[in-house]
Amino acid sequence: MLKNRLKIFTILGFNIYIDLSWLILAVLIVWSLSAGYFPEKIKNLHGYAYIIMGIFGAFGLFFSIVFHELSHSVFARSYGVKMNGITLFLFGGVAEMENEPEKPMAEFVMGIMGPVSSVVLAGIFALISRIFYAELPAPVYIVLQYLSWINLLLAAFNMIPAFPLDGGRVLRSIIWAFNKNVFSATRISSKFGETFGWFLMIGGGLLFMGTSNPGYIWYFVIGFFLRNAAISSYENVVLKKLLSGVKVSEFLKRDVETVDSSVTVNDFVENHVYKHLHRIFPVIVNGKLTGCADSDVLGNIAREKWKGLTVKDIQHKCIPENTIAPEAPALEAFSRMSAGGFNSLMVTQNDILLGMVRMADIAKYIALKARIEKI
Ligand SMILES: [Zn+2]
Repeated sequence: MLKNRLKIFTILGFNIYIDLSWLILAVLIVWSLSAGYFPEKIKNLHGYAYIIMGIFGAFGLFFSIVFHELSHSVFARSYGVKMNGITLFLFGGVAEMENEPEKPMAEFVMGIMGPVSSVVLAGIFALISRIFYAELPAPVYIVLQYLSWINLLLAAFNMIPAFPLDGGRVLRSIIWAFNKNVFSATRISSKFGETFGWFLMIGGGLLFMGTSNPGYIWYFVIGFFLRNAAISSYENVVLKKLLSGVKVSEFLKRDVETVDSSVTVNDFVENHVYKHLHRIFPVIVNGKLTGCADSDVLGNIAREKWKGLTVKDIQHKCIPENTIAPEAPALEAFSRMSAGGFNSLMVTQNDILLGMVRMADIAKYIALKARIEKI
């Protein structure tokens, strides 16, 4: 989902990215602050003044979200959890973890430090606005008050025990500490997340129908996002745990049917496609993978031309998504296959085809392990 992201800077060793969807949020914030919130708090300013206040408010919120996610990341790193940077997107920010915390205590501290940092920030903004109340121009005071309030709201919303919100992570860590089972702890807390998502969707939908206020659609959208995030993060946690430490090489099947680039297309169809019943074949020249021959393209080539053409003429480059290194995590192979709709990937090293990794094998492994470990 967060593919269209742009790196904007690095802080404390963490990359900060902006997803293009954040721009929509930034415009929405500036608009709602300058057209609604600020004119209510302070009257009779010039229109531009409200827009400038809105821009500062949005920047302050941007800073607050980065600060919140940085706190998660710094504490996560101190517990040995690898972080892939912070991304700001349509629904705020997310600190992406490469692996899950090993212990409930780590999860608890990582989860709670985001909201704690937001409360601290709310206090700082409130304190500045109080101390310099007499010296500050009224619009600056109002923006500071807004930032204090929005940080409190950020902390409160995130502490709702709906996984994957921070409160849901805290809840999960507490259940995990008691029952010593990370899977059931995740299942319970993500059920809370799913339920809360439904609650926001239904509540937002009903309020919109009752009042015709388009602002309530936002609740519906956030609820929908949360419900999906709760379901997919549960699945992710289970997958990450089941496949943790497992490499692609463990699923490597070396008996791969390949085709030589000099073979005629006619031969390719008769002796490869119809014989081995695969759609795509890796094309090998002198032991090296040079491309893929896809039988799907044959529909576009007249049959009488098949004898005059060789595989070299119809082969295409195997896009990088089709290949994976043997030392890559099996989880990466799994996610890439499910994202791209492939049922296998070619395992290569320095352009040499070692074999294939198949979705069915990884799926079988997951199912067996889940049954044995009672997940
Ligand atoms: Zn958080």
